[in-house]
Amino acid sequence: MHESKAYEPNVDIDSPNRNIAPISSEINESKKLVVGGCQLSELAKKYGTPLYVLDELSLRTACKTYISSLNKHYPGKSLPLFASKANSSLAICAVISSEGFGLDAVSEGELLTAINGGVKEKDIVFHGNNKSQDELNFAYSNNVTIVLDNYHDIELLKNIASDNKPAKLMLRFTPGIECHTHEYIRTGHLDSKFGFDPDELKSILEELKTYKWANLTGLHAHIGSQIFEVQPHIDLAGVMADALKLAKEIGHPVVDLNLGGGLGIKYVQEDNPPSIEKWVEIISKAVVNACRERNLDLPRLMCEPGRSLVANSGLTIYKIGAKKVVPGVRTYLSVDGGMSDNPRPITYQSLYSACLVDKPMNTNFEKVTIAGKHCESGDVLLKDFLLPSCESGDFLAVFGTGAYNYSMSSNYNRIPRPATIIVGKGLAELTQRRELPEDLLQLDVLPDRFIPKN
Ligand SMILES: *Cc1c(COP(=O)(O)O)cnc(C)c1O
Repeated sequence: MHESKAYEPNVDIDSPNRNIAPISSEINESKKLVVGGCQLSELAKKYGTPLYVLDELSLRTACKTYISSLNKHYPGKSLPLFASKANSSLAICAVISSEGFGLDAVSEGELLTAINGGVKEKDIVFHGNNKSQDELNFAYSNNVTIVLDNYHDIELLKNIASDNKPAKLMLRFTPGIECHTHEYIRTGHLDSKFGFDPDELKSILEELKTYKWANLTGLHAHIGSQIFEVQPHIDLAGVMADALKLAKEIGHPVVDLNLGGGLGIKYVQEDNPPSIEKWVEIISKAVVNACRERNLDLPRLMCEPGRSLVANSGLTIYKIGAKKVVPGVRTYLSVDGGMSDNPRPITYQSLYSACLVDKPMNTNFEKVTIAGKHCESGDVLLKDFLLPSCESGDFLAVFGTGAYNYSMSSNYNRIPRPATIIVGKGLAELTQRRELPEDLLQLDVLPDRFIPKN
């Protein structure tokens, strides 16, 4: 069983990924939970539930810490990119780009969001293991850097890229590094759908050299997500420096080395991820050492944090509804959302922490299971969790939902997606409006012959 305590104050305000709650969280005089200067129960009443809340201070602090740590520990140039699949919205793109971040995208939708959110095209990197011709056309015509993942990308690019406007490219390869994380979110070992196999590296680099339309400026690898160990990234720096050396020998103007993302975050008390600064220091030193050993000029260092940038800025407020006691087995408390707004527990058995927003310090715990409202027995957000006793109508905050929640949400059971608001300095602003049941009908088309006559 995974136990909760009452709400605990944050421990590391420079590294939001090391705290369960957003760093601006506090308890006010009436002993209620406040984030970004806004009392959460008031937000819930005003905007409805479920409600995604994003703390601007946590998001900006995570960005600033990545940037200042790169400046402090990496002597060459650097550019951190936000892995926008973690949470893609105009508002988040605007915030991260104002902090000096670039962005990586994996679809035309994410590219469009980034460009409209104000991220500069030259600071956008386009990934994907099965990019469509349309997506590549869009990326190429917008001067976005395209990450070659396989030969199919090259075939499709040949249809559009011209010698007088070469495509700016990076090459992704599978570095063959194992790390201990969930099987679905490991991408660096050899049996992965992503990137070129290391054995193909030399021949693909030689082939690319013969194409005038191809301007290869960087190399990329990503080893996985929610990683707490640092050794895999140290190993990665060595593998990538070897590839960098090879690409330079073959004559490519390679200046960017992109080590991907993967830094873990604290979802529950037992989680103890490295701080952002520690992680940056380790990858910086590893790249510096690996380049020095091989007599290489320092590349521009890129990394692609997703989760560690946004997860702990976010929380979701739900309203507690039905209670079901199965005597001697468990007590279910059902909330007004679940797997459609947070598919991680049912997909990865992910753990979360939660508290009652208006009774964060109460300690009269009961063991409960927080169930979602979807028609799926596995739709459980927190299993066997200690929560102060509560009643129907109380609001519950689930922490750490700023990454891979909205972006992985669905309309299962035709449940509309929640709204998102950003909070800071007492101000709460809508950044994504709540879907309405009517919105869900907008894409449906009823052929005339199905319309009942009379
Ligand atoms: C998912 C992913 C990231 C971000 O990973 P996090 O664990 O969220 O930091 C970065 N780069 C690539 C290529 C990815 O697929």
